[in-house]
Amino acid sequence: MNFDDTPQEAAFRAEARAWIAANAPRQYEADLRKSSLGRVGLEGADILEVAKAWQKKKADAGWACLHWPKEYGGRGASPIERVIWQQEEGVYGKLSAVFIIGHGMCGPTMMAFAAEAHKRSYLPPLASGEKIWCQLFSEPAGGSDVAGLRTRAERRGGDWIVNGQKIWTSGAHYSDYGILLTRTDPAVPKHKGLTMFFLDMKSPGVEVRPIRQASGASDFNEVYFTDVVIPDSQRLGAVDDGWNVSLTTLMNERMSIGAGVATGFPELFEFCASLMLEDGPAIEDRNVRAKLANWAVKASGLKYTSLRAISALSKGERPGPENSIGKLVAGSMVQDVAMYALDLQGAAGVMSGPEAELAGRFQAMLLRSPGTRVEGGTDEIMRNIIAERVLGLPGDIRVDKDVPFNQIPTRGRA
Ligand SMILES: Cc1cc2nc3c(=O)[nH]c(=O)nc-3n(C[C@H](O)[C@H](O)[C@H](O)COP(=O)(O)OP(=O)(O)OC[C@H]3O[C@@H](n4cnc5c(N)ncnc54)[C@H](O)[C@@H]3O)c2cc1C
Repeated sequence: MNFDDTPQEAAFRAEARAWIAANAPRQYEADLRKSSLGRVGLEGADILEVAKAWQKKKADAGWACLHWPKEYGGRGASPIERVIWQQEEGVYGKLSAVFIIGHGMCGPTMMAFAAEAHKRSYLPPLASGEKIWCQLFSEPAGGSDVAGLRTRAERRGGDWIVNGQKIWTSGAHYSDYGILLTRTDPAVPKHKGLTMFFLDMKSPGVEVRPIRQASGASDFNEVYFTDVVIPDSQRLGAVDDGWNVSLTTLMNERMSIGAGVATGFPELFEFCASLMLEDGPAIEDRNVRAKLANWAVKASGLKYTSLRAISALSKGERPGPENSIGKLVAGSMVQDVAMYALDLQGAAGVMSGPEAELAGRFQAMLLRSPGTRVEGGTDEIMRNIIAERVLGLPGDIRVDKDVPFNQIPTRGRA
């Protein structure tokens, strides 16, 4: 591993740094610096509006979706240049959260499977943040096992008629478009009868119902489809080949989510550095120091694991399992860190709102942290991936893999 920039990378970094210094919305820097997992917010401003304005400014200057081709709204930059940009963008990168699904998953899927005319019309506004996209895969009966989904698409002339329900769709309530995985042939094994589409979220028959979370926020939704009409021209990939199309989305999902998961450690360290316990500063307490030391080691392991992925990228290689490992380790770490911080806060930890200690920062982190261990693949699924693809252990037992979908026993059908 070589962490030094090449001369070209150093020049690129200097250009990015200068542009950010001249253009970033500095009035929000302090709020963004204080933002942590579960609590990214701006005092007195609508974060969605600020995020869209920043994204548009970047796009106009050629700094949006850097690694995408120019004709689709990107810069045609190398993967390592994209990493350098993210390092330089720093806290302002937190404004990109609403675009992660569109840029990280929907965009690459459209790029791989949409017709050229669609790529040229839909991708630039996606890159510039003018249009937001969501990912409509999970259902009550299809989460880890996405191929168990039941939303039906039936052909009618040159259109498809969609009926069914999705759940946990992040951002559906403010999305303009979505990519949608449906079942088109229930008489074949479950992975073989799926088809992918993209659709306008304002299409008649699409109903979005936000889900209220423990934190009070509503980040994701139930989405119902009643006789929704999708033109065949909006099909992505071949009929009944949606599983292959979805693998492109899911591979990109693991890259996007795994590359940037929070650990909560910097926030905890900062908190302990200023906290007074009954017998002195927390940072001098032996128990606190032992906990911090353990997490510092883990955080540094995660940092170098992700640098391994970056190093592979810089050599033009595909990163290996680093992101699955990163997500698995960081997901449980952030939960433990938030729980420990709340213990240190004592009774004050249950309070939230501006008057609360650190404005409920660790409480919000704790309430959001189980979601991190579930989204983009649960801990168990990450372990399966690492076991099968990295360690070469025998595969999970998949008894229904070759059974026609409509003959898999279910409670309602057994
Ligand atoms: C914050 C958040 C945002 C999300 N955003 C989206 C989104 O935008 N779009 C979307 O489509 N989905 C989204 N999801 C859904 C997410 O992809 C699913 O929740 C996830 O895949 C798990 O599926 P499930 O909830 O149905 O749980 P299940 O798959 O039912 O799992 C239940 C339990 O069984 C375990 N399990 C399942 N299969 C196995 C196995 N083979 N081996 C061992 N254990 C197993 C799981 O680990 C888990 O503990 C989001 C979820 C969260 C939490």
